[in-house]
Amino acid sequence: MAEKCSFCGKSRERVKKLFSGQGAYICESCVKLCNQILASDEEEEVKLKRDSRVKELLKPAEIKRQLDQYVIGQERAKRQLSVSIYNHYKRIATQAANRDVEFEKANVLLIGPTGSGKTLMARTLAKILDVPFALCDATPLTEAGYVGEDVENVILRLLQSCNYDVKRAQYGIVYIDEIDKIGRTHDNVSVTRDVSGEGVQQALLKILEGTTANVPPQGGRKHPQQEYIQVDTTNILFICGGTFSALNKIIERRIGKKTIGFAAYLDEPQVSKAKRLGDILAQVEPEDLLKFGMIPEFVGRFSVTATLNYLDEKDLVDVLLKPKNSLIKQYTKFFEMENVKLTFSEDSLAAIAKEALRKGTGARGLRSILEEIMFEVMYELPSQSEIAECIITPESITRRSKPILIARGEEKDKRKIA
Ligand code: ADP
Repeated sequence: MAEKCSFCGKSRERVKKLFSGQGAYICESCVKLCNQILASDEEEEVKLKRDSRVKELLKPAEIKRQLDQYVIGQERAKRQLSVSIYNHYKRIATQAANRDVEFEKANVLLIGPTGSGKTLMARTLAKILDVPFALCDATPLTEAGYVGEDVENVILRLLQSCNYDVKRAQYGIVYIDEIDKIGRTHDNVSVTRDVSGEGVQQALLKILEGTTANVPPQGGRKHPQQEYIQVDTTNILFICGGTFSALNKIIERRIGKKTIGFAAYLDEPQVSKAKRLGDILAQVEPEDLLKFGMIPEFVGRFSVTATLNYLDEKDLVDVLLKPKNSLIKQYTKFFEMENVKLTFSEDSLAAIAKEALRKGTGARGLRSILEEIMFEVMYELPSQSEIAECIITPESITRRSKPILIARGEEKDKRKIA
């Protein structure tokens, strides 16, 4: 009998190599093919393992402990988020075993001022859990038929964040910012969008509660001839955030100013205005959100509403110093790499915090203030090897005066260079 590959049938003459076994042959290209199949199976296994890692659930306290390393303050919100994240992934992990009970899908609403850490929390959670993360803005979204973006684009962002790995995306976290701007009564409605924003809330409902979304791979508007990527949104966690400005007025009107307003703090005059505002927001009820202009079905899609506080001066100093990747730690490291010691003199951090408070953009303002102070020094430093220390003073912030530079060998008497 002619010797030929038992897999592809090619004879010995037509292949480079033919291996023989008991009663069978295999050619070198079939060996290669088998190898490829084995390798791709292994890859799939690794992927599956990674997908199931969300099943090795971190307990709420552990999630909170990890959030603490990045997010300053916001204790209540961090706890609420940790619990809801745990419950969300627990529901996913046990859904096969609990077919008799239908757990409702939980999404999270975050209400708090600009720069208080809403986006940071959502992003950090995705990092802790090692799941894909997408950050989107609600303002460009419109209902079908209007100029703008389809809500499916939100899912597209998530797909893009994990290289179109649909399986991974289906366990991801999406943060939708500025959700208050699609309130029914919001003044800033765009002329191109439906007049109310209600249509966008309607359109978002489906993906929030879990559906198979048809996502156009290139984004933009859907059209009938297009091929879609199908993504099941049932296990995607949606965190929606907004400042909901003036929501505090609606809450105050409901519970009466006396109980929560100024009078409630007569015995505690030291309590800051910011803290009072936070306390008021913390009492938000669904009916307040309806009055604000969100539709009942939309509000009903959020099982947790967490409110964040304004960060005060002390909090902002902590934001500068304490997070694992804090701005001060990053700058200190940069300077260290140039062999320069970076020092913030007493009160300089407080001066930065005060400046950020004046800007009214919460901790978001800190980065640009620091950048402005540091920019010139960072420009000059690499070509000035004689500098040993750079001291930032409160005047560097308040009067934009140059930081003090100390020459090498002169650190003891701190001789100034500039
Ligand atoms: P927003 O509440 O408007 O979503 P962000 O989370 O985007 O605010 O905050 C902007 C930046 O300010 C963050 O990237 C982070 O550097 C800093 N920041 C804001 N809040 C906090 C916080 N509570 N703890 C630590 N850093 C914070």
